[in-house]
Amino acid sequence: MRRKKFLVIPVFLCALGAAIYFRQNLEAEAEPLRKEFFAMDTYMTFTAYGRGAGQALDQAEEEMKRLEKEWSVTDADSKIYQVNHSGGNPVTLSDETAQIVKFALSMAEETDGALEPTIYPVLSAWGFTTGEHRIPEEEELEELLQTVGYEKAELSGNQLRLPTGTELDLGAVGKGYAGDLTAELLREQGITSALLDIGGNIQAIGAKPDGSKWRLGIRSPFGEGQIGVLEIIDCAVVTSGNYERYFVGEDGKEYGHILDPETGYPVDNGLASVTIITEQGKLGDALSTSMFVKGLEGAVDYWKNHRDFDMILMTESGEVYLTEGIQDSFMLSESFANLDLQVIDSLS
Ligand code: ADP
Ligand code: MG
Repeated sequence: MRRKKFLVIPVFLCALGAAIYFRQNLEAEAEPLRKEFFAMDTYMTFTAYGRGAGQALDQAEEEMKRLEKEWSVTDADSKIYQVNHSGGNPVTLSDETAQIVKFALSMAEETDGALEPTIYPVLSAWGFTTGEHRIPEEEELEELLQTVGYEKAELSGNQLRLPTGTELDLGAVGKGYAGDLTAELLREQGITSALLDIGGNIQAIGAKPDGSKWRLGIRSPFGEGQIGVLEIIDCAVVTSGNYERYFVGEDGKEYGHILDPETGYPVDNGLASVTIITEQGKLGDALSTSMFVKGLEGAVDYWKNHRDFDMILMTESGEVYLTEGIQDSFMLSESFANLDLQVIDSLS
């Protein structure tokens, strides 16, 4: 009789353990939760799995909207707007804004000014900021380029000072950094499997709930369809190109929203798109824009000197270049199987 009593407790504990195990498994396998919203001038789709996903996604959306308010170039309440209209006086930034400004300035230096966070006045002249597109005169561009130069920005601790006329724009790096901060927030909430689509910038948290890799379709810069599939775990995938935001001028030419800071004209160097694969979204974002500005040769040289990222370069004539680290993770789709695919390795 006594032995039976001793048995009841372990059996009960086992049953409880099994119930908890099955419940957790059920939750892990549950349908993903999805949230779609508009922020930072783009559509965002966040997908998360597991316990607490709904609440975590609500917080993620709030975080994106908070950062948008802080970094907007057009909202008079934003810190960036205040710096841009401070008449040369210093403005104190929050820690996270100071950090992204510091990062943008250091990447501008590292890429020899291909990333130029003070290009905004030139971007405005082309009408990319309002949608009222026009082709500025060359003299107008030359004059505006006088205000451009990341080295004009003075950041000391959290204090930023810009000379009158110089304007800072985090458009090329902000979404990447916002992705990093949001991913961190989701991880703190216990989320181990999620995919953030930030207007085409992808931030993957962990793997899919079953442990397999995320399969991302890489959009064709030549029109409809996906040129291939990239398999990833726990990283950021960021693409830049002039095929999404552009206008057709009166001269019939296409003008894209990524500018060459040396000339003030939209980049037109034969590259159709650049996709960067990195651990950090902010690095991916800074590099996707700047490697697009540098062009094929410049981007390959930069990669050979750094190698802390992978990339996919597509040219307008239909060549695809991959760095060696992702050659086994990328597959061309059937309809693009005829594209010329080349691997960039450290030796070539
Ligand atoms: P998207 O924001 O469309 O995903 P990017 O990350 O490449 O693409 O950022 C492009 C934006 O960056 C432009 O819309 C503009 O605000 C700004 N920009 C354009 N040219 C440059 C440049 N050479 N350096 C830094 N920012 C740029
Ligand atoms: Mg970018």
